[in-house]
Amino acid sequence: MEKLEHIGIAVKNLEESNRLFEKLLGKSHYKIEEVASEGVRTSFFEVGGVKIELLEATNPDSPIAKFIDRRGEGIHHLAFEVADIEESISSYSSNGFTLLNSQPKSGADNKRIAFMHPKTTNSVLVELCQEKK
Ligand code: ZN
Repeated sequence: MEKLEHIGIAVKNLEESNRLFEKLLGKSHYKIEEVASEGVRTSFFEVGGVKIELLEATNPDSPIAKFIDRRGEGIHHLAFEVADIEESISSYSSNGFTLLNSQPKSGADNKRIAFMHPKTTNSVLVELCQEKK
């Protein structure tokens, strides 16, 4: 892992939460981006080099909708930047972690991403991400 890249937070209403986090962090979000393949609309804040990603479901089958149904709003995942995502997927897989993607997929904010199953990471959903070149 290179660094904590962002913290993903599941929210019910992106506009309301944007206003809340603007008040909390004292700055505006710098982008809103929909990732249709994941069924989410996201917004991004940056504070001290770490980003906050707010995630709103765009349909009832979205993983974010299911998360909110089960657990309510709140911290959804921690995303760590890695230097080589293919290499990370294979080395974490062979070290006992369960990866939800055997190949990186396209995420928000110009990233290639892969998730680890929370059952192998103390119930924390971990995202590996690498900036697209
Ligand atoms: Zn994320």
